[in-house]
Amino acid sequence: MAGLIAAIVILGLGIAFLTMRSQWEAGELRYQLKQVDSESFRIADQFGDHLRRLNDMLFQGGRNHTPPDARVFARNSHELDLWIDAQKPKLTSQAERSLMQQIDNAYDDYLRASTELVIRLQTLGNQSAKEDDYASLRRESRRLFDLVQALTREHLASRDHVLARANSDLTHLRVLALVSLVLLFLLGLALGAVVYRDMIVPLRVRLVESETLLERQEKLASLGVLAAGVAHEIRNPLTAIKAALFIRQRKFEPGSQEAADAQVIDREILRLERIVNEFLLFARPGECQLSPVLAHEPLREVHALLAPELAKSNIRLVLQETPSLRILADDEQIRQVLINLVRNSAEAIGRDGVIKLRGRAGRKHLGGKECEVAILEVEDNGKGIPPDVQKRLFDPFFTTKSTGTGLGLSIAVRIVQAHGGVLEYQTAPGLGTTFGIVLPRQAADGGLGAA
Ligand code: ADP
Repeated sequence: MAGLIAAIVILGLGIAFLTMRSQWEAGELRYQLKQVDSESFRIADQFGDHLRRLNDMLFQGGRNHTPPDARVFARNSHELDLWIDAQKPKLTSQAERSLMQQIDNAYDDYLRASTELVIRLQTLGNQSAKEDDYASLRRESRRLFDLVQALTREHLASRDHVLARANSDLTHLRVLALVSLVLLFLLGLALGAVVYRDMIVPLRVRLVESETLLERQEKLASLGVLAAGVAHEIRNPLTAIKAALFIRQRKFEPGSQEAADAQVIDREILRLERIVNEFLLFARPGECQLSPVLAHEPLREVHALLAPELAKSNIRLVLQETPSLRILADDEQIRQVLINLVRNSAEAIGRDGVIKLRGRAGRKHLGGKECEVAILEVEDNGKGIPPDVQKRLFDPFFTTKSTGTGLGLSIAVRIVQAHGGVLEYQTAPGLGTTFGIVLPRQAADGGLGAA
Protein backbone atom coordinates (compact mmCIF):
# COMPACT_ATOMS: atom_id res chain seq x y z
CA MET A 1 0.00 0.00 0.00
CA ALA A 2 2.86 2.39 0.88
CA GLY A 3 4.41 1.60 -2.52
CA LEU A 4 1.14 2.43 -4.28
CA ILE A 5 0.78 5.73 -2.43
CA ALA A 6 4.40 6.62 -3.27
CA ALA A 7 3.78 5.76 -6.95
CA ILE A 8 0.65 7.96 -7.01
CA VAL A 9 2.52 10.87 -5.40
CA ILE A 10 5.43 10.52 -7.86
CA LEU A 11 3.03 10.29 -10.80
CA GLY A 12 1.06 13.32 -9.54
CA LEU A 13 4.30 15.31 -9.29
CA GLY A 14 5.26 14.07 -12.77
CA ILE A 15 1.94 15.28 -14.21
CA ALA A 16 2.31 18.65 -12.46
CA PHE A 17 5.85 18.94 -13.88
CA LEU A 18 4.68 17.98 -17.40
CA THR A 19 1.83 20.49 -17.27
CA MET A 20 4.17 23.27 -16.17
CA ARG A 21 6.74 22.22 -18.75
CA SER A 22 4.20 22.22 -21.60
CA GLN A 23 2.93 25.64 -20.50
CA TRP A 24 6.47 26.94 -20.43
CA GLU A 25 7.18 25.43 -23.86
CA ALA A 26 4.00 26.93 -25.30
CA GLY A 27 5.01 30.38 -23.94
CA GLU A 28 8.52 29.94 -25.29
CA LEU A 29 7.11 28.94 -28.68
CA ARG A 30 4.82 31.95 -28.80
CA TYR A 31 7.76 34.21 -27.99
CA GLN A 32 10.02 32.57 -30.59
CA LEU A 33 7.36 32.81 -33.29
CA LYS A 34 6.76 36.46 -32.56
CA GLN A 35 10.49 37.07 -32.71
CA VAL A 36 10.96 35.19 -35.97
CA ASP A 37 7.94 36.81 -37.65
CA SER A 38 8.87 40.37 -36.83
CA GLU A 39 12.58 39.70 -37.39
CA SER A 40 12.03 38.41 -40.94
CA PHE A 41 10.04 41.42 -42.01
CA ARG A 42 12.33 43.79 -40.16
CA ILE A 43 15.40 42.42 -41.95
CA ALA A 44 13.78 42.85 -45.38
CA ASP A 45 12.36 46.31 -44.56
CA GLN A 46 15.49 47.73 -43.01
CA PHE A 47 17.74 46.43 -45.74
CA GLY A 48 15.37 47.66 -48.44
CA ASP A 49 15.23 51.12 -46.83
CA HIS A 50 19.01 51.38 -46.52
CA LEU A 51 19.57 50.26 -50.09
CA ARG A 52 16.84 52.49 -51.47
CA ARG A 53 18.39 55.49 -49.69
CA LEU A 54 21.81 54.74 -51.23
CA ASN A 55 20.33 54.22 -54.67
CA ASP A 56 18.32 57.47 -54.41
CA MET A 57 21.49 59.36 -53.61
CA LEU A 58 23.13 57.98 -56.74
CA PHE A 59 20.12 58.31 -59.09
CA GLN A 60 19.25 61.82 -57.94
CA GLY A 61 22.94 62.86 -58.30
CA GLY A 62 22.88 61.63 -61.92
CA ARG A 63 19.63 63.41 -62.70
CA ASN A 64 20.61 66.77 -61.07
CA HIS A 65 24.17 66.77 -62.43
CA THR A 66 25.36 66.88 -58.77
CA PRO A 67 27.42 63.83 -57.98
CA PRO A 68 26.73 62.63 -54.41
CA ASP A 69 29.06 63.69 -51.71
CA ALA A 70 31.54 60.80 -51.45
CA ARG A 71 31.79 61.16 -47.64
CA VAL A 72 28.00 61.10 -47.11
CA PHE A 73 27.73 58.10 -49.44
CA ALA A 74 30.60 56.34 -47.63
CA ARG A 75 28.94 57.00 -44.26
CA ASN A 76 25.58 55.68 -45.44
CA SER A 77 27.10 52.66 -47.10
CA HIS A 78 29.13 51.95 -43.96
CA GLU A 79 25.89 52.00 -41.92
CA LEU A 80 24.50 49.28 -44.15
CA ASP A 81 27.73 47.34 -43.71
CA LEU A 82 27.35 47.58 -39.93
CA TRP A 83 23.71 46.58 -40.20
CA ILE A 84 24.68 43.43 -42.16
CA ASP A 85 27.24 42.51 -39.47
CA ALA A 86 24.64 43.13 -36.72
CA GLN A 87 22.19 40.67 -38.33
CA LYS A 88 24.63 37.76 -38.41
CA PRO A 89 24.22 36.58 -34.75
CA LYS A 90 20.41 36.59 -35.11
CA LEU A 91 20.46 33.97 -37.84
CA THR A 92 19.67 30.46 -36.70
CA SER A 93 19.94 28.09 -39.67
CA GLN A 94 22.89 27.22 -41.86
CA ALA A 95 20.90 28.29 -44.95
CA GLU A 96 20.31 31.75 -43.45
CA ARG A 97 23.99 32.12 -42.59
CA SER A 98 25.08 31.14 -46.12
CA LEU A 99 22.56 33.62 -47.61
CA MET A 100 23.90 36.34 -45.35
CA GLN A 101 27.42 35.53 -46.60
CA GLN A 102 26.17 35.91 -50.17
CA ILE A 103 24.53 39.23 -49.25
CA ASP A 104 27.83 40.33 -47.75
CA ASN A 105 29.67 39.47 -51.01
CA ALA A 106 26.93 40.97 -53.19
CA TYR A 107 27.08 44.11 -51.11
CA ASP A 108 30.83 44.37 -51.76
CA ASP A 109 30.04 44.10 -55.49
CA TYR A 110 27.30 46.69 -55.09
CA LEU A 111 29.70 49.08 -53.34
CA ARG A 112 32.24 48.55 -56.09
CA ALA A 113 29.57 49.34 -58.73
CA SER A 114 28.32 52.38 -56.83
CA THR A 115 31.88 53.73 -56.34
CA GLU A 116 32.49 53.34 -60.07
CA LEU A 117 29.21 55.21 -60.73
CA VAL A 118 30.15 58.05 -58.38
CA ILE A 119 33.53 58.45 -60.18
CA ARG A 120 31.72 58.30 -63.52
CA LEU A 121 29.20 61.00 -62.43
CA GLN A 122 32.03 63.23 -61.24
CA THR A 123 33.81 62.92 -64.61
CA LEU A 124 30.57 63.73 -66.47
CA GLY A 125 30.31 67.15 -64.80
CA ASN A 126 27.28 68.92 -66.39
CA GLN A 127 26.50 66.12 -68.81
CA SER A 128 23.58 63.83 -68.04
CA ALA A 129 24.35 60.23 -67.14
CA LYS A 130 23.06 57.56 -69.53
CA GLU A 131 20.96 54.59 -68.67
CA ASP A 132 23.97 52.33 -69.32
CA ASP A 133 25.93 54.08 -66.56
CA TYR A 134 23.39 52.75 -64.06
CA ALA A 135 23.19 49.23 -65.47
CA SER A 136 25.82 47.74 -63.21
CA LEU A 137 24.32 49.42 -60.10
CA ARG A 138 20.83 48.27 -61.03
CA ARG A 139 22.06 44.68 -61.50
CA GLU A 140 23.87 44.58 -58.17
CA SER A 141 20.88 46.22 -56.37
CA ARG A 142 18.48 43.64 -57.82
CA ARG A 143 20.82 40.86 -56.84
CA LEU A 144 20.95 42.25 -53.32
CA PHE A 145 17.15 42.64 -53.12
CA ASP A 146 16.69 39.09 -54.39
CA LEU A 147 19.13 37.77 -51.82
CA VAL A 148 17.37 39.66 -49.02
CA GLN A 149 14.01 38.29 -50.21
CA ALA A 150 15.55 34.82 -50.13
CA LEU A 151 16.82 35.52 -46.59
CA THR A 152 13.30 36.54 -45.51
CA ARG A 153 11.88 33.35 -46.97
CA GLU A 154 14.57 31.32 -45.24
CA HIS A 155 13.78 33.08 -42.02
CA LEU A 156 10.11 32.16 -42.36
CA ALA A 157 11.09 28.58 -43.22
CA SER A 158 13.12 28.44 -40.03
CA ARG A 159 10.01 29.69 -38.19
CA ASP A 160 8.02 26.80 -39.68
CA HIS A 161 10.78 24.48 -38.55
CA VAL A 162 10.66 25.87 -34.99
CA LEU A 163 6.88 25.55 -35.09
CA ALA A 164 7.00 21.93 -36.27
CA ARG A 165 9.61 20.99 -33.66
CA ALA A 166 7.70 22.70 -30.87
CA ASN A 167 4.47 21.09 -32.03
CA SER A 168 6.05 17.67 -31.94
CA ASP A 169 7.54 18.40 -28.47
CA LEU A 170 4.14 19.53 -27.22
CA THR A 171 2.47 16.45 -28.70
CA HIS A 172 5.02 14.26 -26.89
CA LEU A 173 4.39 16.09 -23.65
CA ARG A 174 0.64 15.78 -24.09
CA VAL A 175 0.88 12.04 -24.80
CA LEU A 176 3.12 11.65 -21.74
CA ALA A 177 0.67 13.61 -19.57
CA LEU A 178 -2.23 11.53 -20.90
CA VAL A 179 -0.42 8.24 -20.24
CA SER A 180 0.49 9.47 -16.74
CA LEU A 181 -3.14 10.42 -16.12
CA VAL A 182 -4.31 6.97 -17.21
CA LEU A 183 -1.62 5.41 -14.97
CA LEU A 184 -2.69 7.67 -12.10
CA PHE A 185 -6.27 6.57 -12.59
CA LEU A 186 -5.25 2.89 -12.65
CA LEU A 187 -3.07 3.32 -9.56
CA GLY A 188 -5.93 5.12 -7.83
CA LEU A 189 -8.18 2.18 -8.68
CA ALA A 190 -5.55 -0.26 -7.39
CA LEU A 191 -5.17 1.78 -4.19
CA GLY A 192 -8.95 1.79 -3.77
CA ALA A 193 -9.02 -1.98 -4.25
CA VAL A 194 -6.18 -2.50 -1.75
CA VAL A 195 -7.82 -0.19 0.81
CA TYR A 196 -11.11 -2.03 0.30
CA ARG A 197 -9.47 -5.47 0.59
CA ASP A 198 -7.05 -4.72 3.45
CA MET A 199 -9.02 -2.24 5.51
CA ILE A 200 -12.72 -2.11 4.72
CA VAL A 201 -13.33 -5.86 4.29
CA PRO A 202 -11.47 -6.80 7.53
CA LEU A 203 -13.32 -4.01 9.32
CA ARG A 204 -16.65 -5.36 8.11
CA VAL A 205 -15.62 -8.89 9.08
CA ARG A 206 -14.52 -7.62 12.50
CA LEU A 207 -17.82 -5.76 12.87
CA VAL A 208 -19.79 -8.89 12.10
CA GLU A 209 -17.51 -10.88 14.43
CA SER A 210 -17.90 -8.43 17.29
CA GLU A 211 -21.65 -8.36 16.76
CA THR A 212 -21.70 -12.16 16.93
CA LEU A 213 -19.39 -12.07 19.95
CA LEU A 214 -21.60 -9.52 21.68
CA GLU A 215 -24.66 -11.64 21.01
CA ARG A 216 -22.85 -14.72 22.35
CA GLN A 217 -21.62 -12.88 25.41
CA GLU A 218 -25.12 -11.62 26.14
CA LYS A 219 -26.42 -15.19 25.84
CA LEU A 220 -23.59 -16.50 28.01
CA ALA A 221 -24.16 -13.80 30.62
CA SER A 222 -27.81 -14.78 30.99
CA LEU A 223 -26.80 -18.43 30.97
CA GLY A 224 -24.22 -17.67 33.68
CA VAL A 225 -26.84 -15.93 35.81
CA LEU A 226 -29.15 -18.91 35.41
CA ALA A 227 -26.31 -21.35 36.17
CA ALA A 228 -25.25 -19.37 39.22
CA GLY A 229 -28.87 -19.29 40.47
CA VAL A 230 -29.27 -23.03 40.07
CA ALA A 231 -25.83 -23.71 41.59
CA HIS A 232 -26.65 -21.55 44.56
CA GLU A 233 -29.95 -23.37 45.11
CA ILE A 234 -28.17 -26.77 44.84
CA ARG A 235 -25.34 -25.83 47.18
CA ASN A 236 -27.49 -25.50 50.32
CA PRO A 237 -29.30 -28.86 50.10
CA LEU A 238 -25.98 -30.44 49.07
CA THR A 239 -24.35 -29.18 52.28
CA ALA A 240 -27.26 -30.60 54.28
CA ILE A 241 -26.97 -33.99 52.50
CA LYS A 242 -23.22 -34.01 53.09
CA ALA A 243 -23.63 -33.30 56.81
CA ALA A 244 -26.32 -35.97 57.18
CA LEU A 245 -24.17 -38.50 55.34
CA PHE A 246 -21.19 -37.67 57.54
CA ILE A 247 -23.22 -38.41 60.68
CA ARG A 248 -24.63 -41.66 59.23
CA GLN A 249 -21.29 -42.88 57.84
CA ARG A 250 -19.84 -43.35 61.32
CA LYS A 251 -22.60 -45.78 62.19
CA PHE A 252 -22.00 -48.09 59.21
CA GLU A 253 -19.89 -51.19 59.65
CA PRO A 254 -16.62 -50.89 57.69
CA GLY A 255 -16.84 -53.20 54.68
CA SER A 256 -20.65 -53.37 54.81
CA GLN A 257 -22.92 -52.63 51.84
CA GLU A 258 -24.12 -49.45 53.59
CA ALA A 259 -20.52 -48.21 53.98
CA ALA A 260 -19.83 -48.88 50.29
CA ASP A 261 -23.06 -47.02 49.25
CA ALA A 262 -22.12 -44.12 51.52
CA GLN A 263 -18.74 -43.89 49.77
CA VAL A 264 -20.42 -43.73 46.35
CA ILE A 265 -22.78 -41.01 47.61
CA ASP A 266 -19.79 -39.12 49.09
CA ARG A 267 -17.92 -39.27 45.75
CA GLU A 268 -20.96 -38.05 43.81
CA ILE A 269 -21.50 -35.23 46.31
CA LEU A 270 -17.88 -34.17 45.70
CA ARG A 271 -18.49 -34.19 41.95
CA LEU A 272 -21.66 -32.16 42.37
CA GLU A 273 -19.76 -29.71 44.56
CA ARG A 274 -17.11 -29.31 41.87
CA ILE A 275 -19.76 -28.62 39.24
CA VAL A 276 -21.52 -26.14 41.50
CA ASN A 277 -18.21 -24.39 42.26
CA GLU A 278 -17.32 -24.15 38.57
CA PHE A 279 -20.76 -22.71 37.74
CA LEU A 280 -20.40 -20.13 40.49
CA LEU A 281 -16.82 -19.30 39.47
CA PHE A 282 -17.93 -18.86 35.86
CA ALA A 283 -20.84 -16.62 36.79
CA ARG A 284 -18.96 -14.57 39.38
CA PRO A 285 -15.20 -14.76 38.89
CA GLY A 286 -13.40 -13.66 42.06
CA GLU A 287 -11.29 -10.52 42.33
CA CYS A 288 -7.71 -11.03 41.20
CA GLN A 289 -5.35 -10.28 44.16
CA LEU A 290 -1.92 -9.87 42.60
CA SER A 291 1.29 -10.32 44.56
CA PRO A 292 4.87 -11.29 43.59
CA VAL A 293 5.13 -15.06 43.25
CA LEU A 294 7.93 -17.35 42.08
CA ALA A 295 6.65 -19.42 39.17
CA HIS A 296 7.73 -22.76 40.56
CA GLU A 297 5.64 -22.33 43.77
CA PRO A 298 2.14 -22.93 42.32
CA LEU A 299 3.64 -25.74 40.20
CA ARG A 300 5.09 -27.38 43.31
CA GLU A 301 1.85 -27.01 45.27
CA VAL A 302 -0.27 -28.49 42.45
CA HIS A 303 2.19 -31.34 42.12
CA ALA A 304 1.99 -32.09 45.83
CA LEU A 305 -1.83 -31.90 45.75
CA LEU A 306 -2.55 -34.03 42.68
CA ALA A 307 0.37 -36.50 42.33
CA PRO A 308 -1.04 -39.04 44.84
CA GLU A 309 -4.55 -38.92 43.33
CA LEU A 310 -3.20 -39.42 39.77
CA ALA A 311 -0.92 -42.22 40.84
CA LYS A 312 -4.09 -44.30 41.44
CA SER A 313 -4.66 -44.25 37.67
CA ASN A 314 -0.97 -44.93 37.09
CA ILE A 315 -0.40 -41.38 35.81
CA ARG A 316 2.96 -39.93 36.79
CA LEU A 317 2.87 -36.22 37.59
CA VAL A 318 6.44 -35.02 37.09
CA LEU A 319 7.67 -31.66 38.38
CA GLN A 320 10.49 -30.60 36.08
CA GLU A 321 13.21 -28.12 36.92
CA THR A 322 12.03 -24.52 36.71
CA PRO A 323 14.31 -21.46 36.77
CA SER A 324 13.62 -18.73 39.28
CA LEU A 325 10.96 -16.64 37.51
CA ARG A 326 9.15 -13.89 39.33
CA ILE A 327 5.55 -13.16 38.30
CA LEU A 328 2.75 -10.98 39.63
CA ALA A 329 -0.12 -13.36 40.27
CA ASP A 330 -3.06 -14.36 42.39
CA ASP A 331 -1.53 -17.55 43.78
CA GLU A 332 -4.91 -19.13 44.47
CA GLN A 333 -6.30 -18.47 40.98
CA ILE A 334 -3.17 -19.63 39.14
CA ARG A 335 -3.29 -22.83 41.20
CA GLN A 336 -6.94 -23.21 40.19
CA VAL A 337 -6.00 -22.92 36.50
CA LEU A 338 -3.15 -25.45 36.88
CA ILE A 339 -5.46 -27.91 38.65
CA ASN A 340 -7.98 -27.59 35.78
CA LEU A 341 -5.28 -28.18 33.18
CA VAL A 342 -3.80 -31.17 35.02
CA ARG A 343 -7.27 -32.70 35.48
CA ASN A 344 -8.02 -32.24 31.77
CA SER A 345 -4.66 -33.90 30.95
CA ALA A 346 -5.42 -36.79 33.26
CA GLU A 347 -8.84 -37.23 31.66
CA ALA A 348 -7.22 -37.16 28.20
CA ILE A 349 -4.81 -39.91 29.31
CA GLY A 350 -7.34 -42.07 31.18
CA ARG A 351 -4.80 -44.54 32.63
CA ASP A 352 -1.03 -45.04 32.38
CA GLY A 353 0.70 -41.88 31.26
CA VAL A 354 2.86 -38.94 32.21
CA ILE A 355 1.99 -35.31 32.91
CA LYS A 356 4.89 -32.88 33.17
CA LEU A 357 4.79 -29.57 35.04
CA ARG A 358 7.45 -26.95 34.34
CA GLY A 359 8.12 -23.25 34.05
CA ARG A 360 10.36 -21.52 31.52
CA ALA A 361 11.33 -18.02 30.48
CA GLY A 362 10.48 -16.55 27.05
CA ARG A 363 9.60 -13.45 25.04
CA LYS A 364 6.09 -12.97 23.68
CA HIS A 365 3.74 -10.29 22.39
CA LEU A 366 1.40 -9.37 25.22
CA GLY A 367 -0.99 -6.42 25.08
CA GLY A 368 0.55 -5.21 21.82
CA LYS A 369 4.18 -5.15 23.00
CA GLU A 370 7.02 -7.60 23.24
CA CYS A 371 7.50 -8.81 26.83
CA GLU A 372 9.74 -10.97 28.91
CA VAL A 373 7.39 -13.72 30.07
CA ALA A 374 7.20 -16.75 32.31
CA ILE A 375 5.37 -19.75 30.82
CA LEU A 376 3.90 -22.38 33.16
CA GLU A 377 3.41 -25.54 31.14
CA VAL A 378 1.33 -28.68 31.59
CA GLU A 379 2.35 -31.36 29.10
CA ASP A 380 0.58 -34.68 28.72
CA ASN A 381 0.92 -37.70 26.50
CA GLY A 382 -2.84 -38.14 26.22
CA LYS A 383 -5.02 -38.52 23.14
CA GLY A 384 -4.49 -34.93 21.92
CA ILE A 385 -7.24 -32.56 20.78
CA PRO A 386 -8.92 -33.30 17.42
CA PRO A 387 -9.37 -30.31 15.04
CA ASP A 388 -13.16 -30.12 15.45
CA VAL A 389 -12.75 -29.91 19.26
CA GLN A 390 -9.98 -27.30 18.89
CA LYS A 391 -12.45 -24.98 17.11
CA ARG A 392 -14.68 -24.84 20.19
CA LEU A 393 -12.05 -25.56 22.86
CA PHE A 394 -12.54 -22.35 24.85
CA ASP A 395 -16.32 -22.09 24.39
CA PRO A 396 -18.13 -22.11 27.75
CA PHE A 397 -20.27 -25.23 28.27
CA PHE A 398 -18.48 -27.05 25.43
CA THR A 399 -17.39 -30.47 26.63
CA THR A 400 -16.69 -33.86 25.11
CA LYS A 401 -17.09 -35.58 28.49
CA SER A 402 -20.30 -37.10 29.83
CA THR A 403 -19.60 -35.63 33.27
CA GLY A 404 -17.91 -32.38 32.13
CA THR A 405 -19.27 -28.86 32.52
CA GLY A 406 -17.28 -27.37 29.65
CA LEU A 407 -16.31 -24.49 31.92
CA GLY A 408 -12.74 -25.42 32.97
CA LEU A 409 -10.89 -23.84 30.02
CA SER A 410 -13.12 -20.77 29.70
CA ILE A 411 -12.60 -20.04 33.42
CA ALA A 412 -8.84 -20.63 32.94
CA VAL A 413 -8.70 -18.20 29.98
CA ARG A 414 -10.55 -15.54 31.97
CA ILE A 415 -8.21 -15.86 34.94
CA VAL A 416 -5.06 -15.77 32.80
CA GLN A 417 -6.35 -12.73 30.88
CA ALA A 418 -7.06 -10.95 34.18
CA HIS A 419 -3.33 -11.44 34.90
CA GLY A 420 -2.42 -9.72 31.62
CA GLY A 421 -1.42 -13.04 30.08
CA VAL A 422 -2.65 -15.57 27.53
CA LEU A 423 -3.43 -19.27 27.56
CA GLU A 424 -1.81 -21.08 24.65
CA TYR A 425 -1.68 -24.72 23.62
CA GLN A 426 -0.03 -27.11 21.22
CA THR A 427 -1.49 -30.46 20.43
CA ALA A 428 -0.81 -33.48 18.26
CA PRO A 429 -3.80 -35.80 18.05
CA GLY A 430 -2.75 -39.23 19.32
CA LEU A 431 0.48 -37.92 20.89
CA GLY A 432 -0.48 -35.38 23.52
CA THR A 433 -1.11 -31.76 24.42
CA THR A 434 0.82 -28.98 26.11
CA PHE A 435 -1.01 -26.03 27.64
CA GLY A 436 1.03 -22.92 28.54
CA ILE A 437 0.02 -20.15 30.91
CA VAL A 438 1.93 -17.12 29.57
CA LEU A 439 2.34 -14.36 32.17
CA PRO A 440 4.35 -11.13 32.13
CA ARG A 441 7.59 -11.64 34.06
CA GLN A 442 8.72 -9.31 36.80
CA ALA A 443 12.32 -8.12 36.59
CA ALA A 444 14.49 -8.91 39.65
CA ASP A 445 14.17 -5.26 40.78
CA GLY A 446 10.38 -5.57 40.77
CA GLY A 447 9.60 -3.76 37.46
CA LEU A 448 7.88 -5.62 34.63
CA GLY A 449 10.30 -6.98 32.04
CA ALA A 450 8.84 -5.30 28.97
CA ALA A 451 10.96 -4.97 25.84
P1 ADP B 1 -14.51 -30.02 30.62
O1 ADP B 1 -13.19 -30.48 31.17
O2 ADP B 1 -15.56 -29.87 31.64
O3 ADP B 1 -14.95 -30.78 29.41
P2 ADP B 1 -12.97 -27.83 29.63
O4 ADP B 1 -13.36 -26.46 29.20
O5 ADP B 1 -11.91 -27.89 30.66
O6 ADP B 1 -14.29 -28.56 30.07
O7 ADP B 1 -12.49 -28.63 28.38
C1 ADP B 1 -13.23 -28.62 27.18
C2 ADP B 1 -12.85 -29.77 26.29
O8 ADP B 1 -11.50 -29.62 25.85
C3 ADP B 1 -12.79 -31.07 26.99
O9 ADP B 1 -14.11 -31.66 27.04
C4 ADP B 1 -11.84 -31.90 26.14
O10 ADP B 1 -12.48 -32.47 25.04
C5 ADP B 1 -10.89 -30.87 25.62
N1 ADP B 1 -9.61 -30.85 26.35
C6 ADP B 1 -9.20 -30.01 27.30
N2 ADP B 1 -7.95 -30.28 27.71
C7 ADP B 1 -7.53 -31.36 26.98
C8 ADP B 1 -6.30 -32.16 26.94
N3 ADP B 1 -5.27 -31.88 27.72
N4 ADP B 1 -6.25 -33.14 26.05
C9 ADP B 1 -7.30 -33.44 25.24
N5 ADP B 1 -8.45 -32.73 25.22
C10 ADP B 1 -8.59 -31.73 26.11
